[in-house]
Amino acid sequence: MVSSFTHQSRPGRVIFGQGTMKALRDEAAALGLQRVLVLSSPGQRSAAEALSGLLGDRAAGLHPNAIMHTPTEVTETALQVVRREKIDGLVAIGGGSAIGLSKALAHRTDLPQIVLPTTYAGSEMTPILGETFGGVKKTLNHPSVLPETVIYDVDLTFSLPPRLSAVSGLNAMAHAIEALYAKDRNPIISLMALEAVRSLSHSLPEVLAKPYDLGARTEALYGAWLCGTCLGAVGMALHHKICHTLGGSFNLPHAETHAVILPHALAFNSPAIPDVMQSLQRNLGQDPANALYRLGGALGAPRSLRDLGMPSSGIERAAEAALANPYWNPQPLRLDAIRALLFRAWAGEPPEPPEVA
Ligand code: NAD
Repeated sequence: MVSSFTHQSRPGRVIFGQGTMKALRDEAAALGLQRVLVLSSPGQRSAAEALSGLLGDRAAGLHPNAIMHTPTEVTETALQVVRREKIDGLVAIGGGSAIGLSKALAHRTDLPQIVLPTTYAGSEMTPILGETFGGVKKTLNHPSVLPETVIYDVDLTFSLPPRLSAVSGLNAMAHAIEALYAKDRNPIISLMALEAVRSLSHSLPEVLAKPYDLGARTEALYGAWLCGTCLGAVGMALHHKICHTLGGSFNLPHAETHAVILPHALAFNSPAIPDVMQSLQRNLGQDPANALYRLGGALGAPRSLRDLGMPSSGIERAAEAALANPYWNPQPLRLDAIRALLFRAWAGEPPEPPEVA
């Protein structure tokens, strides 16, 4: 039932489809860009070179040095290139790592950004920047960080390996699911979140079975766009706090950690969100948390933190860290219940709601 809410629309232009990267030069011209720096991770250098070719004389440099978690020393080196080459705009192609570098540069320079996402992580739609300095990751939220233009081109996602597509898609679904029970949730974002869960839960198994299927890839990228919009619009809760903690404390891989934790975080919150669980049943079936656990298994995604390299001795530390400066969460947080959640996630067991205290 709708009661009172606040919804803030974010500025930004989104171009979605197949072959849309061809619009890059016109989009750069529309922003008045003359000297563009193209950014990517090292693995996507050739895709970045192709974009430089599309930009023609508007391309002023290539910097394929983005790495995971946006370390500030990598940003400082790129900043020197921006200043030396008198760059007036940024183009990033890749996943959250390449987009993170672009956002970090935009935050320091206020340069406009055009972003071409190639994973389902969703960073392109948010004003959020996570940066790592001296091994500590800090997050900020600022309008200068939000890309001006996002070009989603399905062609760029065919090369994403099926296993990576699966974990990246589950990472995206976590944004939509936490948006459904966010403290500041609102009807328009909830509509997007449910549509995102529908599109990804249907398309990810198809992507895994037929990685070059245009329909499946289009549906998955559409779902990822919706998930990113949810992440950028409302606050996240226990799931994101735990993943943030595990990534920082044990250097666990980003998307895989989200894939393992998601069913457990939803089961943990289930007693406090009967309306959300009922809505999710429409797309996920009778028991949404267990359905997500089974979906992860069917997609071949990792199911246990142990398999990701976390030692059992870390469970206590992670439980305490998850309760330090906690995010708002619908279900009250108790150390014993978080410890039990983490133990099940570590061992790869099916999710369960917390025991009544
Ligand atoms: P990533 O960008 O590190 O990409 C993972 C790997 O996949 C890289 O080696 C990359 O080169 C490769 N890759 C990407 N697209 C490919 C493609 N189409 N074909 C072949 N290889 C491809 O990982 P990610 O999961 O997209 O992003 C994770 C990072 O993004 C983390 O640092 C996370 O904190 C951040 N993130 C930030 C936000 C935000 O709103 N600030 C949101 C989501 C994620």
